[in-house]
Amino acid sequence: IKDKHGSNYNIFESSISEKFKAMLTMESELRKALKYDQFELHYQPQKCLTSNKIVGVEALLRWKHPVKGYIPPGEFIGLAEKTGLIIDIGDWVMNEACRENKAWQDKGFQPMTVSVNLSAKQFYQRELVDKVKKTLQNTGLSPEYLELEITETMAMTNEENILETMYHLRKLGVTVSIDDFGTGYSSFKYLSVFPVTKLKIDKMFINENQKQNQAIVKSIIHMSHSLDMKVIAEGVETIEQLRFLTKEKCDEMQGFYFSKPLPPEKLTKWFRTIG
Ligand code: C2E
Ligand code: CA
Ligand code: CA
Ligand code: CA
Repeated sequence: IKDKHGSNYNIFESSISEKFKAMLTMESELRKALKYDQFELHYQPQKCLTSNKIVGVEALLRWKHPVKGYIPPGEFIGLAEKTGLIIDIGDWVMNEACRENKAWQDKGFQPMTVSVNLSAKQFYQRELVDKVKKTLQNTGLSPEYLELEITETMAMTNEENILETMYHLRKLGVTVSIDDFGTGYSSFKYLSVFPVTKLKIDKMFINENQKQNQAIVKSIIHMSHSLDMKVIAEGVETIEQLRFLTKEKCDEMQGFYFSKPLPPEKLTKWFRTIG
């Protein structure tokens, strides 16, 4: 006779090993994805709220799986970080984003910034600054057109090392922005020592139009400006949200209301129509 606990334990164990197997499969598929060029970048335009011009795009990673179709980053970045594959994937992303941005400039489109998301593992690499420098040299992109996004949580842990890396990056001429701002607990004091040029207000504060969120958004905008930083709102989906942000003097916006992330062909097609 099986005891109840024993059988529960077995079920538990088998579901763990299923998960583990699925992870191993995905890990080997991720390696293949790099080797067989299955990654793509889609770009989401960022609009300046005073000039109404597109001033930048955020590069967002997509995995075009041969069987499963497009897989969003939320489903594989975590595993890529755990296995260390994020380093090679991140190198690919940075190179592709710089190469593509330079190609748009060469085609005569209005120059703009490309923002690249960095994971913690990438940011802590000793050779990060060297890698960025080489990528810019190899692709010919001028450093002011590359922006690196690190999350608020990353910036707040290990702030001494982060600070040094940030200074070196700034010296190269690239800009650094703090992503998902408002979700961590950074203080005014820390922020004022970071050589950061922009804060990105996390979309959770933009999406829900509660009074409390509006108060948070207002104070982030004021704080950024008093620290001489620009501020961008992400996840803008409605005209009301846009009006509120414009009224509060937010500098830039990004979100479905303006445009989804687009594959490069669609983005350049759009550039052509706006001239
Ligand atoms: P994130 O950096 O906060 O990127 C913003 C996410 O919000 C993107 O999801 C974007 O498609 C989505 N989004 C944009 N506008 C709206 C909107 O109006 N409403 C809503 N609800 N969502 C909107 P995505 O592309 O699935 O990326 C998810 C996360 O994956 C990113 O969050 C980022 O943390 C990570 N990620 C993406 N690409 C890379 C990459 O190349 N490297 C690394 N390390 N992480 C990446
Ligand atoms: Ca981001
Ligand atoms: Ca974000
Ligand atoms: Ca996020």
